[in-house]
Amino acid sequence: MGMARRKTKRAIPNHLAARLERCRARMADGRLSAYVVSAPTDQFYLAGFTGEDGVVVVTARRLYLVTDGRFTIQAAREAPWAKAIIRKAGIGAELSRLQLRHRWCRVGFQAEHATVKQAAIWRKAVSPARLTQSKPITAELRNRKDPAEVVAIRRAIDVAEAAFKVTCRTVKIGMTERQVAARLEFEMQKRGASGPSFPTIVAVGSNAALPHARPGSRRIASGSAILIDWGATVDGYRSDLTRVVFVRTIRPQFRRMYIMVHEAQRRAIAAVSSGVEARMVDRAARSYLASVGYGKAFTHSTGHGLGLDVHEGPSLARRGSATLEAGMVVTVEPGVYVPGVGGVRIEDDILVTGSGCEVLSTLSTNLDDMVIRG
Ligand code: ZN
Ligand code: ZN
Repeated sequence: MGMARRKTKRAIPNHLAARLERCRARMADGRLSAYVVSAPTDQFYLAGFTGEDGVVVVTARRLYLVTDGRFTIQAAREAPWAKAIIRKAGIGAELSRLQLRHRWCRVGFQAEHATVKQAAIWRKAVSPARLTQSKPITAELRNRKDPAEVVAIRRAIDVAEAAFKVTCRTVKIGMTERQVAARLEFEMQKRGASGPSFPTIVAVGSNAALPHARPGSRRIASGSAILIDWGATVDGYRSDLTRVVFVRTIRPQFRRMYIMVHEAQRRAIAAVSSGVEARMVDRAARSYLASVGYGKAFTHSTGHGLGLDVHEGPSLARRGSATLEAGMVVTVEPGVYVPGVGGVRIEDDILVTGSGCEVLSTLSTNLDDMVIRG
């Protein structure tokens, strides 16, 4: 005997209710009567919807999901707590209807996630309400992860790490960068990833002097240094890791680079704690690398926030103005790049805690462990 199927609307889960409450408090601060959320990851964050068309509209008491007919079933399944509006024409037409019903005064939208054309249409649609570029409400909310998000990020890290270990055992001399990247992505998906967090970087030798090299046809040889920057997406959440492995031997120049970057990373991680300004973490790595002669060779920031997007707040940059708070998840990834020779970057994922931090990733960074047989 099965339970009777009930058609009552499912109650909104606690974690979404809590996010909407915080979102509405910020809307009230900005005197917004409605907030049009067009970034897909923000729609997932606030409503649970993963479809790729439409907008979520948050008002003081309601939650609308404007999407199209391809997502009718998905909207009902993923976000039954939102009032689904299946649009026949553009999003603007539906916003216009909602405006007639609710008589909004100020409508916030995400300028960084809307085209100039969309903004023009929406502006007309909500008139006489004013369409205004909202402060980054969801981006700020997302900086601090709730416990369920940290669990999801841990899973994304586990999958990436397990795939990396297997891939390292299968790397053979003569394989191309692209073959290694494909193997790594395959191993991640086999373990439950919906895909890589971003296009996997596998760069052999001097190709690694480009921090965002694309894997190509360069082949692995004995003595190669291989920079691998990869991550898995699991249940929407992402991991982001970098290791440099050496095939059979480590050339002296790489040995020195590695030891220096490793120490820079250790110092930066030691600086991570709630209450610390993000730029101080960057400074810990940068000032050390400068002191050993790699100042100009460290060409990017020390890290970034990580979650539903692979790059989100806070930024651990020279001018990173955020203050770290417990619950933030950041990468720490100093690197040095020498044109014609190669690059070394070591990247781990770190949870900021009240008393310091917890390194969520578990792969060894010891130089001796970075040698593979090939
Ligand atoms: Zn990375
Ligand atoms: Zn990164």
